[in-house]
Amino acid sequence: MAYRYLFGPVPSRRLGISLGIDLVPHKTCAFDCVYCECGRTTDLTCKRREYVPTGRVIAELDDFLAKRPDLDYITFAGSGEPTLHTGLGEIIAFIKDRYPRYRVAVLTNSALLTDPEVRAALMRADLVVPSLDAVSEEAFLKINRPCPGLTAGRVLEGLLDFVREYTGEVRLEVFIVPGINDTEDEIQLLKDAVAAIKPDRVQVNTLDRPGTDIRVRPASRGALERIAAVLGGEVIGAACTDRALPPESGDAGEIILATIRRRPCTPADLAALLGIRPAEVAKHLRVLEARGLIEQVREKRGVFYRAT
Ligand code: SF4
Repeated sequence: MAYRYLFGPVPSRRLGISLGIDLVPHKTCAFDCVYCECGRTTDLTCKRREYVPTGRVIAELDDFLAKRPDLDYITFAGSGEPTLHTGLGEIIAFIKDRYPRYRVAVLTNSALLTDPEVRAALMRADLVVPSLDAVSEEAFLKINRPCPGLTAGRVLEGLLDFVREYTGEVRLEVFIVPGINDTEDEIQLLKDAVAAIKPDRVQVNTLDRPGTDIRVRPASRGALERIAAVLGGEVIGAACTDRALPPESGDAGEIILATIRRRPCTPADLAALLGIRPAEVAKHLRVLEARGLIEQVREKRGVFYRAT
């Protein structure tokens, strides 16, 4: 079976061996974060609907999981917001009923947690990783650029309602953008929010590769460690979501291009992520660049390739 909605499995720094599920078309999201590694949001929406057929996602999962793969997590992530999909709860229930040995994780931007149906859909997940980047309305608008009507106050309210009802593990993720949410005032607000949410863990993150807005720079390691200490959390250096390739994909050049379209990568990232020899990665990158499909961007961590 060719998989359209499953990605990986890949080794993830946060989740071990993770099989990804992408429930919405590329960049369908309630936010348009300045740091997003998947490019600008093309469908900025808070409207929940069945963006891709629930039955088809379940069929792909059934086909893949019947082979009893070794996984640490099945993760709802991808290049958009999974809670926008109205079938999320049904798909999680399918996994937990049919394949109870697998742990389910959901990465969410927290935008829709005020909706009781979204909270109910998440109840059977083993792990939820909600984001909270800002508490002040000003920083929230600057970093997350939400769909109209969403406020920082409502997002925090939804998160608090969620943690009151949910009994699984919560890892709160805070993405730091220097000059926007690293001020003393904002960090104090975040600290108060963390104290109220009481997540199991707090993970502080920053840009690891080129984001949507080229003016956004990563926070320094020292700044991240300082902020993590205030919030009682830990620093993670990886990207905000775990994305990879469909299982059993074909040609290496196409695989590399598909990966770069999802997020900019260095040649070393590609070799590690895809298990392809560095020399072969370099050869395909030269061809893709000559065809005008990708271009180089120089960043602190080295040369990244991104889709043109
Ligand atoms: S980082 Fe996540 S929440 Fe923000 S725009 Fe990208 S997909 Fe949406």
